[in-house]
Amino acid sequence: MRALIGRTDGACRGNPGPASIGVALYDASRDGADHPSAQPDATISAAIGTTTNNVAEWKALISAIELAAELGASELKLLLDSKLVVEQLHGRWRVRDAKLAPLCDEARARLARFAAWSAVHVPREENHQADALANEGLDRALRGGPAWVVRRPDDRARARSAAAGNGLPDADDLSGAAATTLTVLGSGASRGVPRVGCRCEVCISKDVRNQRLRSSLLVEWRDPANETSRAVVIDPGMDLRQQALRSGISRLDGALITHIHVDHTGGIDELRTYTDAQEEVLDVGAAPETCTELLRRWEYAFDGRTAPGHGIPSLRLVEAAPHVRLGGRTFEAIPLVHGRRPAHGWRSGGFAYLTDVSAVSPASRERLLGLDTLIVSALRDLPHPTHQTVEEALALIVALGPRLAILTHLDHDLDYQDLSARLPDGVLAGFDGLAVSVEAR
Ligand SMILES: [Zn+2]
Ligand SMILES: [Zn+2]
Ligand SMILES: [Zn+2]
Repeated sequence: MRALIGRTDGACRGNPGPASIGVALYDASRDGADHPSAQPDATISAAIGTTTNNVAEWKALISAIELAAELGASELKLLLDSKLVVEQLHGRWRVRDAKLAPLCDEARARLARFAAWSAVHVPREENHQADALANEGLDRALRGGPAWVVRRPDDRARARSAAAGNGLPDADDLSGAAATTLTVLGSGASRGVPRVGCRCEVCISKDVRNQRLRSSLLVEWRDPANETSRAVVIDPGMDLRQQALRSGISRLDGALITHIHVDHTGGIDELRTYTDAQEEVLDVGAAPETCTELLRRWEYAFDGRTAPGHGIPSLRLVEAAPHVRLGGRTFEAIPLVHGRRPAHGWRSGGFAYLTDVSAVSPASRERLLGLDTLIVSALRDLPHPTHQTVEEALALIVALGPRLAILTHLDHDLDYQDLSARLPDGVLAGFDGLAVSVEAR
């Protein structure tokens, strides 16, 4: 979307009092997009705690600017019913209230990143949609529902096509040519590093790259069909909440599971954050045997009996056969050997994520040729019954020949600097927060 129109409102019951915000964004290229009753393309309704009406007005504005930027707008036309905000934003009126000054600064700084923006004052009657959204947010929170709900254009398209029984809208399949970013959310073994109570060199190390949350990967790309950003997490593990906060994961198109071990699934309940905020059932893809186990352990989340926003995650299991489509993108489950447990890696376009692997069969190796980026587990140097050693991982990398390989699921035996120093060119020791772009091959 090139140009968006934004209407915002802050509401407060009492001043100060329980407050909320409403944001409605409209694709400016649509006929009648600036009409007060036009159907919004994206909205926010949110309760923001107890504050003043003016703070709520500014926070609504900042949230609108943030969402417009996320949706790829280069131009933003704001229609606001607060004259104070419009005048202060343009610098024509001074901001006297110390609480408001930083909010005004933030709004201006964010607007400066757009190619063009404008803000005009409109009568209150013309702002009924943003006003209704603000009230919806507060009413919902008072009923015990989620505080934040963001509806994006792609979510609406998905809801429509799901209602029509079509499943996911068919976006062009993504090859390695589409820009994909991989972020290592966690690079640690099942207990994380440092281990609780351990005083080994790595566990007491000050190097942040030796501080490893449980292994997890974020896959992000831009959907070429509508220029929106997409995100899938592979293995919502025990540290998902912390990882989501650290990496600013504000929405998800779904999750993929490699295997049932709790270091890879312990964050399934945290997906509630996304089913709440997106008001949608989130797809979770896994191989059939893992689906059976997931259903047994998290039946309440997967049984389809609870709509989003009612206190538990609202998830839908999608069996890999061997492909799964999430956010319009295809992921292929690749069988791996992980001791006696079935485990799968995931490949999509030019990258593959293989964690918790002791061996890879010749059939699976064939499905892993021609990779740009391979992320693969390497637990330690000592042999282990269910995990590859560093040496075994390096042998696999040589056999598969990716442009770049990253080692993950690292235990406290491996110091980041020592490990890095002995890795060949084209192989990186993973660390939390490491982000790479998958290149076309
Ligand atoms: Zn693991
Ligand atoms: Zn240790
Ligand atoms: Zn495992």
